[in-house]
Amino acid sequence: MQAYWMPFTANRQFKSAPRMLVSADGMYYKDDAGRDILDGCAGLWCVNAGHNRKPIVEAIQRQAATLDYAPPFQLGHPLAFEAAEQLAAMAPKGLGKVFFVNSGSEAADTALKMAIAYHRVRGDAARVKLVGRERGYHGVNFGGISVGGIAGNRKLFPVTLTATDHLKSTHDLARNAFSRGEPEYGAELADELEARITTLHDPSTIAAVIVEPMAGSTGVLIPPKGYLKRLREICDKYGILLIFDEVITGFGRLGADWAANRFDVLPDILTCAKGLSNGVVPMGAVLVKPEIHDAFMAAAGDRMIEFPHGYTYSAHPLACAASIATLNLYREEDLFGRAAALAPRFEEKAHALRGERHVKDIRNLGLVAGIELDSRPGAAGQRGFDVFLKCWEKGVLVRFTGDIIACSPPLIIEEQEIDRLFAAIGEAIRETE
Ligand code: PMP
Repeated sequence: MQAYWMPFTANRQFKSAPRMLVSADGMYYKDDAGRDILDGCAGLWCVNAGHNRKPIVEAIQRQAATLDYAPPFQLGHPLAFEAAEQLAAMAPKGLGKVFFVNSGSEAADTALKMAIAYHRVRGDAARVKLVGRERGYHGVNFGGISVGGIAGNRKLFPVTLTATDHLKSTHDLARNAFSRGEPEYGAELADELEARITTLHDPSTIAAVIVEPMAGSTGVLIPPKGYLKRLREICDKYGILLIFDEVITGFGRLGADWAANRFDVLPDILTCAKGLSNGVVPMGAVLVKPEIHDAFMAAAGDRMIEFPHGYTYSAHPLACAASIATLNLYREEDLFGRAAALAPRFEEKAHALRGERHVKDIRNLGLVAGIELDSRPGAAGQRGFDVFLKCWEKGVLVRFTGDIIACSPPLIIEEQEIDRLFAAIGEAIRETE
């Protein structure tokens, strides 16, 4: 317990009460005491096909014994091309080019660099500014925290990108509390983009707008009806690229394959990770419209490398093997359809917690829900943490972000497990003071 510095963890607290996972299968983790823990979070929003899936395990084993590693620069391997084809075939129509990375953070920074470079290779070097949103999360790399909207993630790192701006969050408890699915009010918040870029900036200096279609990490904030369409219209009007960070919302989470399709808004660039490889091997991807890719090819001139960017582990053979097997499972088992079919029960059970003490709001879409609790005076986040711990004691894994409890189970969840998940949260809230 001495050497390991844990990420995003209260390290000192953890040492006195460690929570150790030792194995996983289907919907369940096992902890070091041998208890089964119902996975209400798909690990960290990523194990969409459930744990220990044989086709994925076997694909990785086969690949490790065949081609363990291949340098991705100036060399290729067949599974990289196949994984890209399969992902493009599954992607929202129009996003046909795939750039592989290893995480959601890398996907975000890659997308931002691509956006700025895209304008530049087309001779539009003035477009360098990036617009994100309050309560947006795009990972922890410098680009991601710069456009992200979590002040706490930036406080210790004051040297972020400066050519950024942020829209207001769409979170609006006064108008939208206890919405089921998409909230009714707030589409007009998108107009802030036009107001800001025309008054505080020059629109011809804006390279891209990046948003999570549904903000996950900051508490399951579902976009108001029509909001994303308006963002798209404003971006089109001013020649700005629209980037969707679908690291959480991709691969069936919202009861559709992608948020882009769920909300019928096509971004120019889409980032994904997590469910791309079922979380089994790290992997992310940036999907772009062919014209973005083609602009780099056309403008390369005497530059041999069109986009000087990539990682040692881009399109890693094990990740590609895991991803191909994962995408196959999604298709064969129609897991996105399954998520859509289970969504009404999920919604019903989530909203059954309305009326519990301290519950300020409940939000849901597809197989994701957020339960917002009121904060203990002077101890923001404590109630959320306590509920998380109580659930853990009951053998149910949920996530907490501040005082918001988030649930995003694997898409293979059964109805009675949905019932158990929300029943446990209800009990935990009642037992927590
Ligand atoms: N973007 C979004 C929307 C995310 O939810 C996350 C992770 N929760 C990331 C980016 C960062 O992904 P990673 O942790 O794989 O770097």
